[in-house]
Parts: sequence; structure tokens; C-alpha cells
Amino acid sequence: LVRLRARLARSQSVLGRGLLAVLSRDHLDDEAWEEIEDSLITADVGVEATQVIVERLRERVRVLGTRTVAEVRQQLAEELIEALEPGLDRTLKAGPFEGRPAVVLVVGVNGAGKTTTCGKIARVLVADGHTVVLGAADTFRAAASEQLATWGERVGAETVRGPEGGDPASVAFDAVKRGIDTGVHTVLIDTAGRLQNKVGLMDELGKVKRVVEKHGPVDEALLILDATTGQNGLEQARVFTEVVDVTGVVLTKLDGTAKGGIVIAVQRKLGIPVKLVGLGEGPDDLAPFEPKAFVEALLG
Ligand code: GDP
Repeated sequence: LVRLRARLARSQSVLGRGLLAVLSRDHLDDEAWEEIEDSLITADVGVEATQVIVERLRERVRVLGTRTVAEVRQQLAEELIEALEPGLDRTLKAGPFEGRPAVVLVVGVNGAGKTTTCGKIARVLVADGHTVVLGAADTFRAAASEQLATWGERVGAETVRGPEGGDPASVAFDAVKRGIDTGVHTVLIDTAGRLQNKVGLMDELGKVKRVVEKHGPVDEALLILDATTGQNGLEQARVFTEVVDVTGVVLTKLDGTAKGGIVIAVQRKLGIPVKLVGLGEGPDDLAPFEPKAFVEALLG
């Protein structure tokens, strides 16, 4: 929690401090409630979610006759946690399943942090005693395959690569086959995310998925989302949810934004649990997403 708090320092400056200023007034009048709303919207919680949260909080404060700042803050924290649906299953399906590896597809726009996140996830899995094969199916971006292989070496996972500009689906197929042949627990497949051309992307990702499914089901499709792109990134991300059944979101670069509230908007708008968060570029800068710890860190 301490580390999360340190990493979210910038988010705190928007949400935590803004709210603290409002909440320290003697009386929560309409203006104060508007300021609370503004703080949440500024923190990228999203208009819709903000309205629901504030309405529920107002009702609570009215019914319970909440007086103290500490109590209002506590009740707001509870509403934020509730908005993040703490009951959702956020475990990563790492396998193995009945003798076959779990197949995890990693999708998202270029630059969102797919390759880095693949490396970080592999590291966590290996540290937990899992065996991992990495599939470098982002054959479009020249350095991606090299970058993934470097992560592989670093964390102790084999990387299956294809020729630059080669067929991503064929690399994905080979990676899953390699994972099955060598009996590993998890195959993590890094994909390309060219969004300029929606049809092309859909074709390519759709093909990767179909080809992988010749070996068995895709167990997890993780959507990598850059938290610093805010509400726009969220709109772009929708395309991916139309091509693959996204089972979880990894929100990267939360260390680089003052708007940690985006987590709430993401979950609400996509209806998919945020499973992991990226808090930096280093190998250990990946954390499981826990609504309670996150909200505590966010409110400072
Ligand atoms: P890809 O194109 O989606 O594979 O993106 P990359 O994995 O190459 O990441 C793009 C850039 O974002 C790289 O410079 C990464 O080091 C950086 N990055 C990825 N995740 C995080 C994160 O959680 N925090 C920060 N600050 N940078 C990140």
C-alpha cells in the first residue's frame, strides 16, 4: 500500500487534496457537492460514474446525518470501492489446465505497454513457480520482438519469434505449440495494435485468435490500456472488445497520471474487471488491482 501510495502521488494531488479541501468545510452545501463532483470528474472518474457516486454519497450523508470530515471521507471511499465492484474475480488464469498451458492473448494499441506488460507478467509468474513461453506476435513493430526476447531472457522464459513483418498468426500458433510441446504452464502472446485501420486490425487479431484456437481455447485476453490517454483511450479500446472477448484490463502508466479515477471509468464503461495495474517501467512495477488498497492510495 505504501508503494502504491508513492506511485500514485500525482493522482492524490488531484483527487485527495481537492476533496480534502471541500470536505474540511463546516457544511456541505450545494456548492461543496459540486466541487466534490468536479474533483471526481477532473480525476477522470467519468461523468456517469461520478453522478452515481455523488448521488449515493449525498443520500448516505442525509440518511446517516454524517457530520465529520473523516466520516464523509470514509463513506466516499466506500462508494468508490463499491463502484469498482470489489467482488469481481481478478485472478489471472495462469494454468496449466488439464495438462495444457493457459493461453493468454495480450492486446491493445501500440505504445500502451503490451510488450512491457508481457515481460512483467512473465516475471511475476516465473517468480511464482510457473513456466512461461512468450509469443512475439507483434511482428509489425520492428523492435517489439527483440524487446520481448530481452524480457524473456531476463525473467527466464523462452520467446518464440518469427521473421520481422511475418505473419503474426503463425508466430502465435508456433508459440502455443511450443508451450504445449514443452509442457509449460502459460503461453503469453504479445500482439500488434495498429489502430489506424480498424478492419485490418480486426482481421489480424481475429486471425491470431482463430489460429491459436486450433490448439485449444484462449483462456484470457488482456486489454492493455494506457491510463494517461484518459477517456479517449477508453473509446479506442472498445474496438478490441469487439474482436476478442476481453477477460481483463491492465491499466498501465498509472504512475504517470494525475487522474487515477480512470480505473473507475474503465470498469464501468467496458464492463471488464481491471486485473493489474502498471506503476512504472521496471520489471517489478506491476501490481494486482485491489479496489480497497487503490481507493485508499487514491484518497491519500
Ligand atoms: P506496446 O507498443 O504496447 O508493446 O508498448 P511498450 O511495451 O513498448 O511500452 C511503451 C512505453 O511505455 C515503453 O517506454 C514502456 O517502458 C512504457 N511503459 C509501459 N508500461 C508502463 C508503466 O506502467 N508506467 C510507465 N511509466 N511506463 C510504462
